[in-house]
Amino acid sequence: MSNHIVMKARRKPAKQGLPEFVELHLNRDRCKGCRYCVEICARKTLAIGDEMNAKGHLLPMVVEGADCAACGLCAMICPDFAIWLSTEEYEE
Ligand code: SF4
Ligand code: SF4
Repeated sequence: MSNHIVMKARRKPAKQGLPEFVELHLNRDRCKGCRYCVEICARKTLAIGDEMNAKGHLLPMVVEGADCAACGLCAMICPDFAIWLSTEEYEE
């Protein structure tokens, strides 16, 4: 099983020239299920799901129907560099 998961959330607000959906990437092996990314997300885009990695940590997932501001805070707060946005999200 790949350790790289790609999840999508609708971009809100929409931004001209960028895709309709934000791609959120997760390295499942790096994640320790600390929930920092879940707690910092003002949009409630992320939640801890029921999928576990090999170390026994429950992984964050995009909540169905949730949107994403592409603020990048989840990526910035992750102590293990386990979650990040597609590079294009950071381009202005
Ligand atoms: S902050 Fe990082 S290590 Fe913690 S649950 Fe989120 S992705 Fe996993
Ligand atoms: S980029 Fe911002 S809005 Fe999107 S999931 Fe991460 S913290 Fe939430």
